[in-house]
Amino acid sequence: MTQETGGFAALDLNPNIVAAVLATGYEEPSAIQQQSIPIILAGHDMIGQAQTGTGKTAAFALPILNKIDVSKREPQALILAPTRELALQVATAFETYAKQMPGVNVVAVYGGAPMGPQLRAIRNGAQIVVATPGRLCDHLRRDEKVLSTVQYLVLDEADEMLKLGFMDDLEVIFDAIPASRQTVLFSATLPSSIRSIAERHLREPKHVKIQSKTQTVTAIEQAHLMVHADQKIPAVLRLLEVEEFDALIAFVRTKQATLDLAAALEAKGYKAAALNGDIAQNQRERVIDSLKDGRLDIVVATDVAARGLDVPRITHVFNVDMPYDPESYVHRIGRTGRAGRDGRALLLVTPRERRMLQVIERVTGQKVAEARLPNAQAVLDARIKKLTSSLAPLVAEAEATHGELFDRLTTDLGCSARALAAALLRKATNGQALDLAAVEREQPLVPSFTPRGERTERGERGERPERGDRERRAPMPLAEGRVRCRTALGARDGIAAKNLLGAILNEGGLARDAIGRIQVRDSFSLVELPEDGLEKLLSKLKDTRVAGKQLKLRRYRED
Ligand code: AMP
Repeated sequence: MTQETGGFAALDLNPNIVAAVLATGYEEPSAIQQQSIPIILAGHDMIGQAQTGTGKTAAFALPILNKIDVSKREPQALILAPTRELALQVATAFETYAKQMPGVNVVAVYGGAPMGPQLRAIRNGAQIVVATPGRLCDHLRRDEKVLSTVQYLVLDEADEMLKLGFMDDLEVIFDAIPASRQTVLFSATLPSSIRSIAERHLREPKHVKIQSKTQTVTAIEQAHLMVHADQKIPAVLRLLEVEEFDALIAFVRTKQATLDLAAALEAKGYKAAALNGDIAQNQRERVIDSLKDGRLDIVVATDVAARGLDVPRITHVFNVDMPYDPESYVHRIGRTGRAGRDGRALLLVTPRERRMLQVIERVTGQKVAEARLPNAQAVLDARIKKLTSSLAPLVAEAEATHGELFDRLTTDLGCSARALAAALLRKATNGQALDLAAVEREQPLVPSFTPRGERTERGERGERPERGDRERRAPMPLAEGRVRCRTALGARDGIAAKNLLGAILNEGGLARDAIGRIQVRDSFSLVELPEDGLEKLLSKLKDTRVAGKQLKLRRYRED
């Protein structure tokens, strides 16, 4: 075990859990984990103010796993999450951390999948249930005792649950769990609605908030880019084509990620190496020395491994994985801009981490401007610029040394000077794509997020719109006499257009052709309805449920 892993080992967790966490590649607990784990282990109720990206899932999953009695095959912990996507993510995290605890069973319960198998999995001995509130209430209606053995309750992203209209469902669930339970609530924000839930349902909760002092960052130009998690490596490769850097440090979260990114960079010809807590101290020093003297240009590191690293050559910091907190962000980007030089810091942000970006901006008091991934034209321009500057020092003198050879070759080959120069260029550039069509073909499709109304860039043509894109697409024009209405139910709640149509037709008593287009987005849906009689229709639909959740249709005003 390396010295840094002491962090998890010191937390009083079951060694099997610590081993699984270390095997996942985590090197030390994040701030929220450091603070929450002892509180939850000690049995206190807790309110954690933390957003996605801080490591909050492990902050509750690890101590809960520690408390589970594996020999009892009944639900002991219930985790409520606002969306199917998050429920699945949390369930997967539990499974990862429980890898070395045989007998732990986790079930994810969410809308859009058949209820029977979910209920069977709960009854068959899952100790951990991760659920969206709507679907869980549907189960409770079938079997009101299903949660009667739960001792630990976690509300994850509580503010999001309330935004999605789950307040009533939460009350039903609280009532179905023994009052003696331990309750933990995580929320990015603490509006009065959340505080009132906490007052009614938590007992003397301890508060955990990662205190962020305002930090100043000067002389470092910062930007962020929106990318999907599985597109980070292609995004980094593309960015590197156009960024003019001397030395660069890329920060990721796990050992595996240091190895993956360093390997991808080396494969592209960069002088890159990984730096993580598994690498012996003397080898680490060699890597840092190599970065200092130019034998390496890129180091891919975890926060722990990069501690104390001070290399004045570093012009760029890439935050490939989000830091856990703003302090760590400031610390990371402080690796550049040393000795009064200019530095540049880029941050990759996945859709779920948007809020973390806002926190960083608030704490640093600076806007981190949005940058776009360079398109094929920009990549081509950068390649030609590099080629030009590599040739520039040669043209002055190469004619003297190689001019005669050139003349002889044109004669021997019977070709024009242009034809021979082109052949030499092709050889020198070693198959690199140097015209637009070829660069476009070669660039992997890296979905970025297209701001409202803007067209997708060249080079990203033909890509499937990702969820984030769909969310942001501008609404279509409306037909005469129709208005658009919105519900907070969307694809992530397991909703399809036909469910909405069916519910509105049945409960609203409308003719089919009275309903216009239905657009189902990830976290909401839009339905075109007749303006005439709208208020009456909405009141008829007041209590309508779709896929077990309240429809709550409202007029949507686009401005
Ligand atoms: P969360 O804030 O729970 O959504 O976690 C964000 C990401 O951080 C997930 O991909 C986790 O796997 C990762 N993560 C959580 N804790 C740690 C840790 N201590 N070290 C490295 N990565 C972590």
